[in-house]
Amino acid sequence: MKEIKGGCLCGQVRFRITAEPMAMRLCWCRLCQYLAAGNATVNVVFPSNAITIEGELRDFRCVAESGNVMHRRFCPNCGTQLFSEAESRPHLIIVRNGALDDTALLTPGATIWTSQAPEWAWIDESLPQHAGQPPPVA
Ligand SMILES: [Zn+2]
Ligand SMILES: [Zn+2]
Repeated sequence: MKEIKGGCLCGQVRFRITAEPMAMRLCWCRLCQYLAAGNATVNVVFPSNAITIEGELRDFRCVAESGNVMHRRFCPNCGTQLFSEAESRPHLIIVRNGALDDTALLTPGATIWTSQAPEWAWIDESLPQHAGQPPPVA
């Protein structure tokens, strides 16, 4: 299959993926609003064993409301958010759509954490919505 490639704004971090994406979702949780400059993050889920990453990442670790320990990885040089991983689901890696070379590769399948979105948020009515965390994709 065709490789899916991406990296950060400054080019210090590059990655390639050799698997089909499992899901694409928009997340309006409060933490994502910090990461995405006030909007929802756009996230693509892949099997973590199909990604090869080159370059240095910094890791912001925090504990989610669910008790899950989360790692959010970004480029220490340019600050681009690239990956999110939950310690409870090590077989999955979430890739920020903005870090893909082709940001039009996929279209979102759902909007999650709508309960934390601001009132002005534009939420696509044609997509499934979850007020909080949806059931795991795998
Ligand atoms: Zn960078
Ligand atoms: Zn979120």
